[in-house]
Formats: sequence, C-alpha cells, structure tokens
Amino acid sequence: MAKLSSTPRTPVLPTVIDRLKAAAGEGGYLDKPEDIAPYTKSWRGNWQGASPLFLRPRTTGEMAAVVRICAETGTAIVPQGGNTGLTYGGQPGTGMNEVIVSTARMKAIREIDLKNDTITVEAGVVLQEIQRQAAEVNRLFPLSLGAEGTCQIGGNISTNAGGIQVLRYGNTRSLVLGLEVVLPDGQIWDGLRGLRKDNTGYDLKQLFIGGEGTLGIITAAVLKLFPRPSETQSAWVAVGTPDDAVALLGLMRQELGESVSSFELISRPTVELLLAGVPGSSDPMPVAYPWYVLTEVSGQGEPGSLAEPLSLVLGLAVEKGIAQDAVLAASGEQARKLWKLREDLPFGVQAAGGAVPHDVSVPLSRITEFIRRADAAMLKAYPSSRFCCFGHVGDGNLHYNPVRPADWTFDQWNAEREAINKIVHDIVVELGGSISAEHGIGVVRREENLRYKSPVEIDLMTRIKRVLDPSNIMNPGKVIPL
Ligand SMILES: Cc1cc2nc3c(=O)[nH]c(=O)nc-3n(C[C@H](O)[C@H](O)[C@H](O)COP(=O)(O)OP(=O)(O)OC[C@H]3O[C@@H](n4cnc5c(N)ncnc54)[C@H](O)[C@@H]3O)c2cc1C
Repeated sequence: MAKLSSTPRTPVLPTVIDRLKAAAGEGGYLDKPEDIAPYTKSWRGNWQGASPLFLRPRTTGEMAAVVRICAETGTAIVPQGGNTGLTYGGQPGTGMNEVIVSTARMKAIREIDLKNDTITVEAGVVLQEIQRQAAEVNRLFPLSLGAEGTCQIGGNISTNAGGIQVLRYGNTRSLVLGLEVVLPDGQIWDGLRGLRKDNTGYDLKQLFIGGEGTLGIITAAVLKLFPRPSETQSAWVAVGTPDDAVALLGLMRQELGESVSSFELISRPTVELLLAGVPGSSDPMPVAYPWYVLTEVSGQGEPGSLAEPLSLVLGLAVEKGIAQDAVLAASGEQARKLWKLREDLPFGVQAAGGAVPHDVSVPLSRITEFIRRADAAMLKAYPSSRFCCFGHVGDGNLHYNPVRPADWTFDQWNAEREAINKIVHDIVVELGGSISAEHGIGVVRREENLRYKSPVEIDLMTRIKRVLDPSNIMNPGKVIPL
C-alpha cells in the first residue's frame, strides 16, 4: 500500500489508550493484537494493517467523547463499519499510530415513521436488518448488495454504495434524508431531518455521504422507505453482445416502464470462473452464450401478474434478434438461486486469483465501445489476456477484471497492476466515465484519482477536508493524500 498520510505521527501513547478505553464504556474496546487483527485486514485479504486499539462505543455521546480525546491528543481515527469495503478505506496503516473506531454496537432502530415513509437507524445496523425491518411494516428499503449480511448502513452511506437496484431507486445518496455525525473535533451535528424538501443553505449531509470517513463519523441516519412490491419476476437472458444488452434494456423500459428494477450484465468467462471456483453453483442454461443479462421487474399487483408482460417482451426481444434465449424464474426459490449466482460472482473471480479489479462507469451509450476498446488495448499489451466482466449495466457500471493469464505467475501479473489500471482507466476517462462507480477511492484509487480529476476539484476537496479536520485525524490519507 502507498504511504498513507504525510502527517507525522508516533504510536499512540499508553496514557491516551487508557483514556480512550474509559470513554468507550463497558465492553467498548478490544486491545489484544489477536482480537484486533481481523479488523485490520482488507476483505480481499491483500492488506494487513495494525492498530493498538479497536473502539466500539455504544452511543453517540460515547462516540463523541472518544473523538474529543483523539482531537485533543492528535490521535488518528479509522472509522469502520462491517469492513467489507473494497478500497482499503476502513483499514489502518502499519504504524500502530491509528485507532479503529467501529460502529458495530450502535444498532438501534430509533424510529419508523410510516406516514413519512422513513426509518431512523443507528450507523451500526447491518443492511439486511434494515431491509428486514422495512419488510415487517410492508415497506421496501431498496439498497441491496452482495455484502448486505455484513456491511453496516454507516459504511454504506460513507461509500455511497450502489448495488442492484440503483436503476430504479438510485444509489445510497438518494435514499438518505438526514444524518447525525460526530465531527473531527468531537462536536455532534444533529441533521436527522426526515424532509424531502429543505432548502436552508448548503446541504451538509452530502459531504459525509461518500466521504469515506474522512470528514466525520456518521452515527445515525434517516432513510427513505418505499412501497413494498407485491409482485416480482426475474429472468436470465442470453444475449450475443453488450450492445444487445443495452438494446434489451431500452426495449424493456419502453414496454415495462419503471417496473424494471435490476438489470445486470454477466460475461460467459465470469460464469465459468463461478462454476469452477464456487462449489454448488450451476449453469442456468444448458447451452453456453457469450453474454447474459439477469433482470428483475417488480410492482404492485396479483402474484404472477408480471410474468406474462415480461415473457412477452423477452419473446419480442428474441424475435428482433436482440436476445438469443431467456429463462423466466418459475418460482421465488428459482429467482433466489439466480440472484445468489449473481451475488457469488465476486467469489468466483476471487477464487481464480490475481484478477485486477476495476469498478468503472461510462454513459450507457458507450458501454460497448468501452468493452471493445479495453479488450483490444489489453490484448495488445498482454496477448494472452483473459477478461471477466460483469456489473450493474443498467447504471453504466461495469466490474471489468483482467484475470491472470494461464501462462503468467501471480507475482508477474501483480507487478502489472498499475500499467493495467492505466490502460483501462485512460479509456474510461476518454469516454466521459468514472474510475470508481460505487466502491469509492480509499487508498487503492487515490493516486489515480489525482491523475484524472481536475486540479480545481482536487483543490476544493482538499480545502473542505482542511476546514473540517484541520489536524487531519479523521481517516488520514484516505481519498486525498494528506
Ligand atoms: C461480496 C461483496 C459485494 C459487494 N457488492 C457491492 C455492490 O454491489 N455495490 C457497492 O457499492 N459496494 C459493494 N461492495 C463493497 C462494500 O460492501 C460497500 O462499500 C459497503 O457499503 C461498505 O460498508 P461497510 O459497513 O462494510 O463499510 P467499511 O468497509 O467498514 O468502511 C468503508 C468506508 O467507510 C468508512 N466508514 C464506515 N463506517 C463509517 C461511519 N459510520 N462513518 C464514517 N465513515 C465510515 C470507512 O472508514 C471506510 O472508508 C461489495 C463488497 C463485497 C465484499
């Protein structure tokens, strides 16, 4: 990992550690290296930092007391939720000079307001639990992603997470109405407003959404709830090219409107990695096709009422030559299997070892051009390149992963990471895209972000960070190299 922060720091003093332990309250810390170790490791296992103390306050007051001590003593903080982030944003460096501050014990559902269609939750509530709480009162909280059984809403908000329902409901930013945040000086900002209209000056919450813990620790949020669909249908569709997938999306939206809630693109090599690397997975179709779409439509109506409209549109797509074959999930159980397959794709890629992951977005109209140009540029530089590509194509978001060629060693391929990133990201930026669609910057994309963002944007971001966190204690070195 690149050097984390340019602010000089010494290891945290034992006197400071004692004060922090006292402030975190009963059961509010871990201080044994073996207990802390899992929280200093990245999800992909390729970064292991170190910290002398893992703090887990239970209340906003305890959180503020912890942060005040850190501010007073210049102690750096790494905020952490479920630790499923993919950019090393939630791990410390190796200098034993940062404490991890976790929201894991802040788990209260503070309020469900059905008339306002909002739920107010503390930052440590696991995403799946919020979905469950919403379902219990016949509502939908639409944020949904592979790590939903582990990631926490504070982490989701801090990374502005995307997932599989952005097409219809927007990303996390569009689901948050209000926030409570402990600022780097230990003050509590109470912005827990459940308003859909509020034009009283700068919209401060937007700074913390996607802020990756560099500007403060989110302790609670007011989130939007939606009517819970009574009818959902999923289909696995074979297509010849990514262009056909984009055409299919256009056709489905024209015919089925807003009911199209998810639309995922998956390449055949990605399915093959899944079949090889994830025990128990099976191919949804007996014949192999170059690309697949996994789509979901949902809405209000009698159970089964969307099956006919969906199958008519897919039939039309086959007639027009846009789709080659399609399977409609015949039951809820079959639909769950198809979506489990989609969730497991990252595990297949991980099992293959040595993929160079990219999380990019381009305008939908340029998806095909991106894949064509990136494949060609990679093959020119590395003639035995293999690719696995999948993603939330309805949002223009692709996970484009050049996989280690069979004739390369892990170390050889790993040494090419920077060069591969440059090949892929230069094309993304030329096409008007983003080098991080939903995973954030953390440390992994920090230097590249500096290369691609305009100096004006980097200067503004740096100035905002300096105003809110003048001592640079809040997740130093993440997003911006300060
Ligand atoms: C299998 C798998 C599938 C995934 N799929 C998706 C996907 O489809 N879409 C997507 O967007 N992401 C995806 N991710 C990435 C990850 O799950 C998300 O980034 C998630 O939002 C992180 O939440 P977390 O609680 O684990 O945060 P962490 O990993 O703990 O932290 C992430 C960042 O947020 C900061 N942070 C955490 N909590 C707070 C807080 N309360 N206040 C301030 N800062 C905080 C941390 O310092 C860090 O910078 C996936 C990850 C995995 C492992």
